[in-house]
Amino acid sequence: MSIFQKWELESDILDAIISRGWDEPTEIQLDSIPLARKGRDIVGQAKTGSGKTAAFGIPILERCKSQGVPQSIILCPTRELAVQVSEELELLQGKKGLKIISVYGGTDIEKQAKILSAGCDIVVGTPGRVIDMTKKGHLDLEKISIFCLDEADRMLDMGFFPDILWIIEKIPNREQNLLFSATFPDEVLNITEEIMNDAAHVMSDDLEVDIPEIDLYAVRIGRANKLWVLGRLIANMSENGQMLIFSNTKRMVDVIVERLGKFQMKAVGIHGDMPQKKREKLLSNFKSGNEKILVATDVAARGLDVDGITVVVNYDLPDDTEAFVHRIGRTGRMGRKGEAWSLVSKEDKGSLQKIGSTWGLEIPFVETPELPDGMDRDPVRKRDDWDEVADSFGMVKINLKIGLQDSTKRALSDWIVSQAKIPEIIIGEINQSDENTEVEVHVAKVAYVIDVIKARDYNGRKLKPEIIEI
Ligand code: ADP
Ligand code: MG
Repeated sequence: MSIFQKWELESDILDAIISRGWDEPTEIQLDSIPLARKGRDIVGQAKTGSGKTAAFGIPILERCKSQGVPQSIILCPTRELAVQVSEELELLQGKKGLKIISVYGGTDIEKQAKILSAGCDIVVGTPGRVIDMTKKGHLDLEKISIFCLDEADRMLDMGFFPDILWIIEKIPNREQNLLFSATFPDEVLNITEEIMNDAAHVMSDDLEVDIPEIDLYAVRIGRANKLWVLGRLIANMSENGQMLIFSNTKRMVDVIVERLGKFQMKAVGIHGDMPQKKREKLLSNFKSGNEKILVATDVAARGLDVDGITVVVNYDLPDDTEAFVHRIGRTGRMGRKGEAWSLVSKEDKGSLQKIGSTWGLEIPFVETPELPDGMDRDPVRKRDDWDEVADSFGMVKINLKIGLQDSTKRALSDWIVSQAKIPEIIIGEINQSDENTEVEVHVAKVAYVIDVIKARDYNGRKLKPEIIEI
C-alpha cells in the first residue's frame, strides 16, 4: 500500500494520482500534505522539480467543492506558470469536476469574464489580471478560504507585494495560507509572518537551498565569443536533448535567436514583450519537444516543468542570486540528470562569485568543450576579443620577453611608438622584472601593435608579445 493510499485521500484524487503512475509522494509532499489537510498554514521550501505543485495542489483540491464560487486562489509570477499549475491541478483532480480557471494577462478580458461568470471553484492566476477581474466585478474573492502563493518569495518581493496585499484585503474569509518556493531569502521569511497564522515551516534546516543533481560548469569567455561557446554547446547536445538559454534582457533574447538562426541553429525565444498567444504557442512547442532550443529572459526562470531540458545555459549571469537557482532548476527535474553552463565574461565575474558564495556552490571553470567527433568546423567562428582583456581604462597588458638589464622602459616605449607610428598616449604603464616587461597598450591599437612587435626585432631579439589575461 502506498502512502498516497494510506492517507485515504478523496477517491477521485487518489485515482488520478494512481493513473498518473505516481508511486509515492515526494519528500515535500510527504511533509506538507498531512499538515495542510489539517488546515495548517505552511511555508514550504523544497528544491526545484521536487513536486511542490502537488504539495499544495492536493490539499486544495480536496478542500474545494464543486459550487461554482471561488474557494481557493493560487497566485503565480508568470502567465505560463499559471497555465501549467492549472493544468497540473486539472490532472490531479481526476473526475472530481471542480472548475479550475486560469486568469492571466494578455488574453481577451471579455472572454475571460464570460468563463468566470459560468462558475469557478479554483482560480490560478497572475496578480495583475486577478486584480483587474476583481475590480471589474467578474471575480468574487469573498468565499475564498485557501490562499496560495507559488514561487512565494518572488510574489512577496517588492515587485508584486503591493498587488498581493491588495488581493489579500479582498479575501475576508482567508482561513489557510500555503506558500511554496525553492528559495526563501530571510527578508521574505519575515514578511510571511505578517500574512500567516502560526505557519508550519517545512524546509531544509539550514535554510540553504538544496540544489538538485545538476552538473554545473562555467566558461570564462568574453562577450564577443559567447556565441562561439554556445555553438559548441549546441553541437555537443545529445540527439534528444533540449536546451534552455537565459539572457538578462529581452533585446538579447531576440539577438541570440536571430544570430543562431544565421548560423543554421534553429532556436525560438520568449520574453515579456511578445504577444501572449505566441508565447504560449512557442512554449507548448518546446514542451512537446518540437522545438529543441529555447532562449528566454527570466520569465522562464521559475517553475516551468519541461521534462526534456538537458542543458541550461546562462548566456549571461543573472543579477540576483535566487534567479540562478531557479534558472538551473529547469533541468534535473524529479531526479533526472542535467547540466548547467554559465558563460562568464569580465562583467559576469562578480555575479558568479556572489552566486557561488551565497549558495555554497562549487562552479568550476572548464575549457570550452571540443567539437564532437565528425564535426570539423565550428558553427560560429571564434573572434579576437580585445575588450575582454582590457581594464576599465581600456588598457590591455602585454608581456614582452625582455628584462631590466636589456632595455630601459623609456627606450622600449620609444621603439614601439616609432615602429608602430602611434601616438605616445597609446602606451600606458610599463613594469619591468629581471626577465620580462609588462606594457599597457590601448585596446584600440593593441592588435596592430602586437603584429608590429612580432614582425620586428628589438636590438636583434624577438620580444614574443603575450597578452596578460585579467
Ligand atoms: P516544483 O514545483 O517543485 O519545481 P513540480 O510541481 O513542477 O516541481 O513537479 C515536477 C514534476 O514532477 C512534474 O512533472 C510533476 O508532475 C512530477 N511529480 C510531482 N509529484 C510526483 C510524484 N509524487 N511522483 C512522480 N512524479 C511527480
Ligand atoms: Mg513549482
